[in-house]
Amino acid sequence: MSDIRSASTPFKPGAPAPKGIIPLCAPEIRGNEWKYIKECLDTNWVSSAGSFVGRFERMVADYLGAGYAVATVNGTSALHLAMLVAGVGFDDEVLLPALTFVASANAVSYTGARPVFIDVDPDYRQIDIEKTADFLKKECRRDDAGLQNKTTGRRVKAIMPVHLLGHPVDLDPLIEMAEAYNLRVIEDNAESLGAKYLKDRGSINEAWSAVGAPRDISCLSFNGNKIITTGGGGMLLTNDEAVARRARYLSTQAKDESEELIHSEVGYNYRLTNIQAAMGVAQMESLDKYVGAKRGIAERYREGFDDVDGISPPAEADWAKSTFWLNTVLVDRQVFGMDSRALLAKLREAAIETRPFWQPLHTLKPFADCFAYRIEAVNRLHRDGLSLPSSVGLGEKEQAKVIGVIRNAGRV
Ligand SMILES: *Cc1c(COP(=O)(O)O)cnc(C)c1O
Repeated sequence: MSDIRSASTPFKPGAPAPKGIIPLCAPEIRGNEWKYIKECLDTNWVSSAGSFVGRFERMVADYLGAGYAVATVNGTSALHLAMLVAGVGFDDEVLLPALTFVASANAVSYTGARPVFIDVDPDYRQIDIEKTADFLKKECRRDDAGLQNKTTGRRVKAIMPVHLLGHPVDLDPLIEMAEAYNLRVIEDNAESLGAKYLKDRGSINEAWSAVGAPRDISCLSFNGNKIITTGGGGMLLTNDEAVARRARYLSTQAKDESEELIHSEVGYNYRLTNIQAAMGVAQMESLDKYVGAKRGIAERYREGFDDVDGISPPAEADWAKSTFWLNTVLVDRQVFGMDSRALLAKLREAAIETRPFWQPLHTLKPFADCFAYRIEAVNRLHRDGLSLPSSVGLGEKEQAKVIGVIRNAGRV
């Protein structure tokens, strides 16, 4: 037992996995990271001024077909800036899925606004389009000032589609709703850089096929467990020059004048450093390769569980190209003969790191006063979901071990 426990103690998300453990999602650092970071150190350009910041911003903006990019210290700060720039403020409401990382809802809360939690669709685990439409139609009233939640009395200002786990949200109908109700759209694309949205290719702008190509504002994260990382980092993307200018201004302490240091409002210190951006440039050079590796991993899980009843790997819509950032399988206790948490314990004994879905956000204390609309699928996904090792560098042998442990644990 002691070796099992020592193997399981270092299972800290984000921390490098010790030898012998198969981590959930470790960074992949095999390119020009050393070279570019050394360049920062050699030239003394280590902080937020320096050429890599602009280079990284242009690189990501070009990849997504965005007009403007503002690099930030992390994804949460990018989302916070997006809220501020979109005019989301005290006692406003923002629609987002109840199944996401808490950062999505925290960013809304920083402004004094409140999230409204919407269910997700059980197939692709993204914000439920029909329920979003129903909420807007049945639960809200329109007046001269905009849209009001009839129950809470708060103003509904924005929708936050979160492209979860590498798979895109079905964005077109959401954009239509946002236009019809005059809502801002702030995409949380922390988990799906490199994914494609291919719906109705004929009728919509080709440039929008990259997930996170901003329809209004979209945000990225480069945290250690994301598909590319800068250690910590984020980015806000938009096609609106004024939005980009304002986001940049707020991210640099709202500095109006740099010699006499005039600040006419309260700003933030949210700019990414040159060292981090240097790492980002190197990581971007490998993004397409990483997406390919992740899709290969997903394919092997699909094959590995093809004949295992009660284990469902993530699906991909026919209008989507997922990056399969995390392979979260659903464990049907009745059919598989073991629930997701018991399987988690089994995998941990075998030194394999796994994780349940996030706690449904509407059940968390800071959001107890928030409106949650017809949440059903999220609760079930939380009960049955288990994320399996999905690192870009996951070897075939290691993956075969993960699949083998699961196959042996079940009834087969
Ligand atoms: C990681 C993540 C964030 C926050 O990004 P940080 O860089 O960690 O601040 C926001 N939303 C989602 C869905 C995420 O997965």
